[in-house]
Amino acid sequence: MAELVEHGGTSKLQTEAQFLKGVGPKWSSVMAKLGLRTVEDVLFHFPRRYEDRRHLPPLSQLQPGQFVTARGELKKVETRPLRGGKVIIRAVVSDGTGEVTLVWFNQPWIKRKLEAYREEILAYGMVRVNNYALEIHSPEIELIEDEEDQADFAKIVPVYGLTEGLPQKVMRRAAESALTFYLSMIQDPLPVAFLKAHGLRPLPWSLSQIHQPTDEVKAQEARKRLVFEEFFYMQLETQMRRKEAKQELGISFDLRQAKAPGSNLFGEQLAPVTGSLWDEVHKMLPFELTGAQKRVIQEIWDDMQRPIPMNRLVQGDVGSGKTAVAACAMLAAVRCGYQTALMAPTEILADQHYINLHRLFDPLGIQVVLLTGKLPAQRRRKATTQAANGEAQIVVGTHALVEEAVKFHRLGLAVIDEQHRFGVLQRASLRNKGEIIPDVLVMTATPIPRTLTMTMHGDLDVSIIDELPPGRKPIKTHWRRPNERSRVYEGVRKLVEEGRQAYFVCPMISESDKMQTQAAEDLYYRLGTETYPDLKIGLLHGQMKPAEKEEVMLQFRSGELNILVSTVVIEVGVDVPNATTMVIEDANRFGLAQLHQLRGRVGRGGHQSYCILIAEATSEETSERLRIMTETNDGFRIAEADLRLRGPGEIAGTKQSGNLDFRLADLIRDSVLLEQARSAAIDLLERDPSLIKTEHQAILNKVKQSRSEVALITVS
Ligand code: ADP
Ligand code: MG
Repeated sequence: MAELVEHGGTSKLQTEAQFLKGVGPKWSSVMAKLGLRTVEDVLFHFPRRYEDRRHLPPLSQLQPGQFVTARGELKKVETRPLRGGKVIIRAVVSDGTGEVTLVWFNQPWIKRKLEAYREEILAYGMVRVNNYALEIHSPEIELIEDEEDQADFAKIVPVYGLTEGLPQKVMRRAAESALTFYLSMIQDPLPVAFLKAHGLRPLPWSLSQIHQPTDEVKAQEARKRLVFEEFFYMQLETQMRRKEAKQELGISFDLRQAKAPGSNLFGEQLAPVTGSLWDEVHKMLPFELTGAQKRVIQEIWDDMQRPIPMNRLVQGDVGSGKTAVAACAMLAAVRCGYQTALMAPTEILADQHYINLHRLFDPLGIQVVLLTGKLPAQRRRKATTQAANGEAQIVVGTHALVEEAVKFHRLGLAVIDEQHRFGVLQRASLRNKGEIIPDVLVMTATPIPRTLTMTMHGDLDVSIIDELPPGRKPIKTHWRRPNERSRVYEGVRKLVEEGRQAYFVCPMISESDKMQTQAAEDLYYRLGTETYPDLKIGLLHGQMKPAEKEEVMLQFRSGELNILVSTVVIEVGVDVPNATTMVIEDANRFGLAQLHQLRGRVGRGGHQSYCILIAEATSEETSERLRIMTETNDGFRIAEADLRLRGPGEIAGTKQSGNLDFRLADLIRDSVLLEQARSAAIDLLERDPSLIKTEHQAILNKVKQSRSEVALITVS
């Protein structure tokens, strides 16, 4: 019976939007462009913002910099031609107390719209000053036409996201009519007791208030409920997935039984356990681990000993020493008789890891091999064989590890470096390489704000290396304008004369590898002939053969080269402690996260390091980005700023952003709600792990819905 009722309700909500008052076939086809096909769609198309028309400011009180809704009569509209056939339209609005001029650049159709009604107008936008007069550029406008409008005027009015050809008024009327006739059919998936416990308003109330708030407080409460709900289903979905993963049987590494170095094949000389593993770690590493590194290693080892597969994310800012942590995990697996694989996002980084790991493990008699797509066929065949017969205990590679038919003899641990560059898919396929489910360790250098981690990687356990190795001097970052370039160059020369080395990152001119190479070659040539004809300069770009890259990196690492000109291929992983300066040309073209990654290539030794950003201030946003870079070295702060400036979808990359597209929720503004939703989800699953109780049926349906969306993203 309950089902029948629900079905009845649901189907009414599926009524086509065209039957809503004031919509009809004409507007419904335009609304369909926004994905609004049914009444339910309309109810869940929330306003972008509100306009409080109960008290609009008199025009005499407008202040520059404010976002305002200006109300007044259109006094005069003039169109002036600009160069290139473009026009500027200026419309003066007055309310008796003062005036403001609305300005549109090259939108000639506005004129017709304005002339049709020389009446009262509402304009929303930011107030600016120009020649002592107040202006609003490209405002959103609305004309107040009829009696009905007037009567309804003094309210908080919703402003919806629209598409071309859809008037704000039609959208408002549609939402209003949906509320009037269908709200009673809305059923709340969240039980009353649950709402009470979490201080949330019921769904019908919230829908009504989000569209037509009686006051700001109620609008906030409605929003809170709806945002919480968005986060809640997503967190339930993630937590359930995570639980399922924990029911699989993985390897239970017996670190206590880990063979001590020098033990024979039969493992007769069993070492006294984890303690001895620590001893071996201390012998293996040329430095003392930081407290944070030790803690994270212990967390990983604990996971490895458990019978469920490890799925752990290690986050640590650039230079925090993730490689050493990975090496310790690998050592443990190898000592238990398993192979391990390390997957890196680029050839250069794979090379770098190979060099580092080889250096660490070779003295211990542990065989490390490199396996990348660009290796000469013969060497690659050999590596493939060694992976398959178990001779290679550690295999370092790129995607080639996953994409090609690489078989492992006994893969026990997969380490994925810089995971944010890989899709969810690759993570899964590396896991499936072995018949036994290997443990997975994901390392990410890009600090991800906690809220984003919880949404992107909610199914992973997280360890954070929140400490840098001792003796590092914070990198000094300066922003210089292009006309100060020669001073920058002199500064670099001085440092080179003191024995240091420098990176020059060429301007980012396009996504195309070829164009990028051109830019690097230009800079290389210019520096080599004009600026530093007496210095040794190397060039590194994406179109070089692996052997050539390796050669250049080797020369730079050995100090043979003073300067390395490069494209962003050095963004990750490259580790040359004597390189203390990085000059980034056209730094405004790079994203914040990318700048931070690039900068992480310096500041790796005991010498003071510098990062010089050369850029014009092309926009407010650019200036803010560059300013943040000069103000902090803290990757987490930078990531927060990046999230704020660019939005989560951009950061996560399209592959993973699917479940980051929220209707209302904002990962920064609503981080507290996200935490609440997360603990509510964990809590609910503790009481009803599979959501089988009757009162949780509606919740389960919502979760299934979001789960199928996630599945779609993963497959596509
Ligand atoms: P990440 O991958 O986290 O950016 P790396 O693992 O490349 O950092 O380490 C950065 C540099 O710091 C390397 O040169 C590494 O040898 C060094 N390093 C790592 N851990 C320590 C430590 N505990 N003490 C001193 N140096 C360290
Ligand atoms: Mg690294």
